[in-house]
Amino acid sequence: MTDICNKCKGPLRYGSSIIQLAKGQYIQDHITPKYRSNQPILLEAHEECDIGIPIKPQRLPYVCSLCNRQLDHKDFVIYAVIGTKPTPQFKQPERRGKTIPFIAHEECWEYRIHSNCSPTPQPKGQFRSFLVKLRDWFSQFVQTK
Ligand SMILES: [Zn+2]
Ligand SMILES: [Zn+2]
Repeated sequence: MTDICNKCKGPLRYGSSIIQLAKGQYIQDHITPKYRSNQPILLEAHEECDIGIPIKPQRLPYVCSLCNRQLDHKDFVIYAVIGTKPTPQFKQPERRGKTIPFIAHEECWEYRIHSNCSPTPQPKGQFRSFLVKLRDWFSQFVQTK
């Protein structure tokens, strides 16, 4: 991972306070989700740089920051942690504390970034996955820059 803040493009120095957004899997009773995929880190920024997600620290057991439903063991999630930038051989920020500033179902996250609107109210379950598929199907016709 690069040592540049994704927001202000300034350097992220070791030991400075950062926020890291990552793809993970929620493991019951564990404060920090497990990394998922080969490139789990979506972005890193200075703690004070606004990365555009709602920050609302919570303790275990967690609810999804976007739909407010409780997370289940092994749910795929997108989450943020705040901690200090570790030395290069490590990825996980250090001194993260006992709260998590943001955690959401991967589904809710996808829905939100693609629809670009408020996450609530939101269709649930099968109907939602149908909508997600429909949206993906439509998106192939949208020209990307
Ligand atoms: Zn920054
Ligand atoms: Zn959710």
